[in-house]
Amino acid sequence: MEKRFVYADNAATTRLLPSVLEKMMPYLTEEYGNPSSLYAFGQTAREAVSESRLHVAQRLGCLPNEVFFTSGGSEADNWAVRMAARQQAAKGKTHLISTAFEHHAVLHTLRTLEREGFTVTLLPVHENGVVRVEELRDALQEDTALVTVMFANNEIGTLQPIADIGALCREKGVLFHTDAVQAVGHVPVDFSSMNIDLLSLSAHKFHGPKGTGALLCRKGLRLANLMEGGAQENGRRAGTENTAGIVGLAAALEHACSGMERNSPLLTARRDRLIQGLLASSPRCRLNGDADRRLPGNINLSFEGVEGESLLLMLDMWGICASSGSACTSGSLDPSHVLLAIGLPHEVAHGSLRLTLSEETSDADIDYLLETVPAVVRRLREMSPLWERIVREDDKADMPIS
Ligand SMILES: *Cc1c(COP(=O)(O)O)cnc(C)c1O
Repeated sequence: MEKRFVYADNAATTRLLPSVLEKMMPYLTEEYGNPSSLYAFGQTAREAVSESRLHVAQRLGCLPNEVFFTSGGSEADNWAVRMAARQQAAKGKTHLISTAFEHHAVLHTLRTLEREGFTVTLLPVHENGVVRVEELRDALQEDTALVTVMFANNEIGTLQPIADIGALCREKGVLFHTDAVQAVGHVPVDFSSMNIDLLSLSAHKFHGPKGTGALLCRKGLRLANLMEGGAQENGRRAGTENTAGIVGLAAALEHACSGMERNSPLLTARRDRLIQGLLASSPRCRLNGDADRRLPGNINLSFEGVEGESLLLMLDMWGICASSGSACTSGSLDPSHVLLAIGLPHEVAHGSLRLTLSEETSDADIDYLLETVPAVVRRLREMSPLWERIVREDDKADMPIS
């Protein structure tokens, strides 16, 4: 088997498209004027920012003045959740609803709010990794301030019933935020028709630059600022505009949205070929998250009797970049909160592998993954006392009862 470089970690970040960089280049070089300055030299930058805002609004179904550029998805999540909660607290509403498998940018913000006196209900996401709207309805209280449910999960790729949640929240007069960082540029997102009040996105998850994102905030909803200082972003988010980043975000979004109809079925077909192939070639392997209600590029599998960390290291030796549901490298022995939330036992969650594809993943890349991953899993199992025990117990179960 010829070694090959395969980047299969597109949920972590994506490659900046050369065509996007090209659009950014003038603002990193000659056109360095400050968009807020009054002289003509700053005007080009100012126009680039406002044109980008218009394009983002058109692609995501909102108004240009509902788009606020930020430093990324984490800032947008922090801003939305923290300030929406505080705004509602002033009206005596201090109950927050979210899910057990949100990104840490949301979960940790909720934890901070809990220390400030808010109460938090985390909805279960069940074995398929999907929230049930009826359970959200039951969880709503008189004093519910905010519902925050992610559009698509970053580990298992499951898509949530966002339009239904939006409709319910609008009906009940409760604010609704969605972390759509994994969804924007990958699946259709419509801010207005889905009744979303607040939406977070990040450019580097759809082949744009890192360090640029946006919060979409419904007109009339005046959240307090997270960043204080200058009057940029209509006085709502201080800091000199990241002109190149904003231009890059809009260009990457244009590229992703205009190609979605063509790319999405191709990507889904590659994803399913990889899932079917891997499930067929490894015993004791399961797919995590709903098979159909998932992002076109997401694969998340658990291999029993395998340690996720070892799997990643071995795959790295074969040139494959992937991710795992086990978090030992980050200093914690706990497996991913997402995999635990869908009910995986610890030892199964530890043997998880996330492969996330993009439109740049080729059929040859898929072939290589189909060859390499099962071989690496077999090799690791040969050395695993855990696997030995699983096999032994299987044999025992197969023995005829005398
Ligand atoms: C990546 C990610 C974030 C954080 O976005 P950054 O731009 O890296 O700060 C937030 N939520 C989800 C679901 C993500 O995948």
